[in-house]
Amino acid sequence: MPDAATETGRSASNVKPDLDVIIVGGGLAGLYSIYRLRKQGLKVRAYEAGDGVGGTWFWNRYPGCRCDVESMEYSYAFDDDLQQEWVWPERYGTQPEILKYINHVAERFDLLRDVQLNTRIKSAVFSEAATLWTITTEAGEEVTAPACIMATGNLSTPRKPDFPGLDDFKGKWYHTGLWPKEGVDFTGLRVGVIGTGSSGVQMMPHIAGQAKHLTVFQRTANFSLPARNAPLDPNKERQHKAEYPERRKAAYDTPFGIAGYPPPAKSALEVTPEERQETYEAKWGEGGSISYLFAYNDLLTNKASNDTASEFVREKIRATVADPKTAELLCPNNHPIGTKRLILDSQYYEIYNQDNVDLVDARKAPIQEITPIGMRTTDAEFEFDAIVFATGFDAMTGAMREIDIRVEGGTTLEVQWEGGPRTYLGVMVAGLPNMFMITGPQSPGVKSQMILSIEWHANWIADCLAHMKAAGARRIDATEQSQEEWVRHVKEVADKTLYPLANSWYMGVNIPGKPQIFMPYVGGVQAYTKKCQEVVAKGYEGFVLTGERVEV
Ligand code: NAP
Repeated sequence: MPDAATETGRSASNVKPDLDVIIVGGGLAGLYSIYRLRKQGLKVRAYEAGDGVGGTWFWNRYPGCRCDVESMEYSYAFDDDLQQEWVWPERYGTQPEILKYINHVAERFDLLRDVQLNTRIKSAVFSEAATLWTITTEAGEEVTAPACIMATGNLSTPRKPDFPGLDDFKGKWYHTGLWPKEGVDFTGLRVGVIGTGSSGVQMMPHIAGQAKHLTVFQRTANFSLPARNAPLDPNKERQHKAEYPERRKAAYDTPFGIAGYPPPAKSALEVTPEERQETYEAKWGEGGSISYLFAYNDLLTNKASNDTASEFVREKIRATVADPKTAELLCPNNHPIGTKRLILDSQYYEIYNQDNVDLVDARKAPIQEITPIGMRTTDAEFEFDAIVFATGFDAMTGAMREIDIRVEGGTTLEVQWEGGPRTYLGVMVAGLPNMFMITGPQSPGVKSQMILSIEWHANWIADCLAHMKAAGARRIDATEQSQEEWVRHVKEVADKTLYPLANSWYMGVNIPGKPQIFMPYVGGVQAYTKKCQEVVAKGYEGFVLTGERVEV
């Protein structure tokens, strides 16, 4: 790699780059990239649109926002003192707690001096002649570096509500992914919420507790399991911390990047209905999604097995919600459990037993428009003081596609991803040299403990840059062929599972016009990381390094 800090780093056109590596995004991925790349003496800077660091945890401040991975797992592993010293108060971290942790990490490792806040990147253009990326900010600032890392996140582009009439709504409206910092008080208000994914389900009990009336518009019923959140048990914390290094290592050998869940040995169809019931009951009592999906070894691959796990949850909904019609409407019936992101809730189904909460079937009677005083569906009108859109994100590809990424006089990301994302290992896109992605599409990112995947990718990229420098290589390209093979492999793996049966953001179906292609790699963290290591062991197989020094 050229080195911006020294004379030796002059680019082909003899322009000294501003940085060695440009990082787009100041969330968990951007921050760790700064830490990791600085360690090998690289001059880096992260550009962040928000006025604070934290990415998804900076923007998603809706009431009840909480991580669905346990806090002892959902944290950085790179520094043992950090993981030993930080105390998580609860089993699952709340958004304020996680944001506090991220800010602590940023300060502790002095990362903020290399973060430029309030800076949205408009374009990223690669010059083949100079082997240089130039990013341009919305304010018109230009920054150059030979390499660029997109740490732009998977759920960072809120789906903007496109309902007609919104501009004329006289009340207030909010999107869960762009929640006001000062919070929102719904006390005494008539509130309409659109969307029953993780964000909506987590938020609703809080709104139901404040609002005069809450009307929930549900288009698709989703599966939700009890989180069973509680203060963190000090004994469990002590034990976990004692085992941290081994657990973190072992996590790479698991499908979801989380250790401590022994792989199930049996199919759900191999046991008696009584045994199954007992198992599901125990998992339901335990709380959490991995434990439930790990009840049997074929819940995500065999529809008949999955039906047993799905039906157990439907029975729980029926037993919780007093009104049978509402209960039935809440029962998911168009996808197998686990094929959409499984939701963890705290007292969600219970709100439908409150007098101030109604459920509206937005599939039978779709929302037509927002009116000045509320909302109109095909068969009714509603009056609201506030409307909340829990309508999700342009997931996995949205944030990168918002940036005009191109090669000067050559290809663009738009062209490369016309029919859906195409990547090699979810780390690079053929035709876009020296541009890396962290937890990109076709990597396990969203199907794993995200921070583990972030650390894996940032380490892999840092090692790759170090290898390039040692080899005297200035440029790395993923080949079209390796990309094609990876895209095919990702599809083959997904097609052996039940995932493609669901209309989910994993498939891009929630964004009108978005190509429908299953985007995450679901072969598991263990298979993926092994593949990444093999690629390196075989001299960066599938990549072309240009200007590589030949050993004599
Ligand atoms: P989401 O899962 O995409 O849910 C969006 C919801 O809005 C869906 O119920 C969708 O219905 C509904 N919707 C969209 N347009 C609609 C319309 N025109 N009319 C009626 N309903 C409409 O988004 P999310 O809840 O923000 O969650 C996204 C992901 O973020 C999660 O899956 C999870 O990975 C992550 N997340 C995690 C946590 C956590 O860690 N606990 C919390 C929040 C989010 P359809 O299903 O019919 O499209």
